[in-house]
Amino acid sequence: MTEIRIELHSDTQTRPTPGMRKAMAEAVVGDEQKGEDPSVNRLLDMSRELFGKEDAVFLPSGTMCNQISLMVHCRPGDEVLTDRTAHILNLEGGGAAVFAGSLVRPIDGDHGVFTAQQLEQNIRAVRRHTPRPRLVAIEQTSNLGGGTVWPLETIREVEAVARKHGLAMHMDGARVLNAVVASNVSAADFGAPFDTMWLDLSKGLGCPFGAVLLGSKDVIEQAWQWKQRMGGAMRQSGVIAAAGIYALENNVSRLAEDHANAKFFAERVAEIPGIAIDVNRVETNLVFFDVAKTGLSAGQVHDRLLEHGVRIGASSGTGMRAVTHLDVSRAQLAEAAAALSTVLVEAAAA
Ligand SMILES: *Cc1c(COP(=O)(O)O)cnc(C)c1O
Repeated sequence: MTEIRIELHSDTQTRPTPGMRKAMAEAVVGDEQKGEDPSVNRLLDMSRELFGKEDAVFLPSGTMCNQISLMVHCRPGDEVLTDRTAHILNLEGGGAAVFAGSLVRPIDGDHGVFTAQQLEQNIRAVRRHTPRPRLVAIEQTSNLGGGTVWPLETIREVEAVARKHGLAMHMDGARVLNAVVASNVSAADFGAPFDTMWLDLSKGLGCPFGAVLLGSKDVIEQAWQWKQRMGGAMRQSGVIAAAGIYALENNVSRLAEDHANAKFFAERVAEIPGIAIDVNRVETNLVFFDVAKTGLSAGQVHDRLLEHGVRIGASSGTGMRAVTHLDVSRAQLAEAAAALSTVLVEAAAA
């Protein structure tokens, strides 16, 4: 296989930089399970302050944050309401059914964002026959929805409906800091409506792994018990938390660069004949486009791009997703767009 020189498959492909590795190597550590790892404690304090939450727990992954949150909020048979594109519904191996025993009711939102009215329409009247609606989950930013930022106003309207019906609120914040940087809404304002929320350190922030789940003292105490049960309780995890501290100090405001680069790439791609893309929908670092009119499948375009050392995800039959991040420069994005153009010109000629 040709070496991948330009990696647009995901912002999970970032490698720790020399500065981050140095911070990890020099991390002061202790036993996290005993609350004695100073680096983990510092990361949790920074996260709590950033999002204005009472308590926090360090977890190995965002997926575990979602799954533990479902277990904290729901009893088996309870229903979770979320957008039909949600990671919880589509990309966690059916974990909602396996662990919390939840039903997930998909709402047909617009680019991953549903309205308060749509939520209202999907909340069942509680009867003996029906599953009990229990939790509303939103994704900030919406991943498969296109990197869309949930507007604060919409979140507040959704929250009002949720509260009226006694439902809890959960935010999958895999890219919540992208939303903060793209919208100029503060992290604390985005966090306020939620009983549980988390931020991923391993996406655009550039850490090897790790996520921070936030909520009230009571909720986080329950989350800790699930962490223990699932084997997510670690020891000297300050080595990883130090990467998170480094990321919060150095890699947040630079997300704006990723967003500008995504826009740049989308504009280049829009010039290629046969590609359908809505450049105006590119709000953050995710660029979705469709190759249906080129006569190739997304998988074929993916494979041919690999021969040029470029990797772009094939997200569906003809849908593709390119993701910008700190390991990809604007010059590389220009090169990737040129490679895409070459691949399609060659295909048209053949
Ligand atoms: C990546 C992602 C997750 C899972 O996070 P991991 O840290 O990879 O487990 C959850 N939700 C969304 C929207 C994501 O993009």
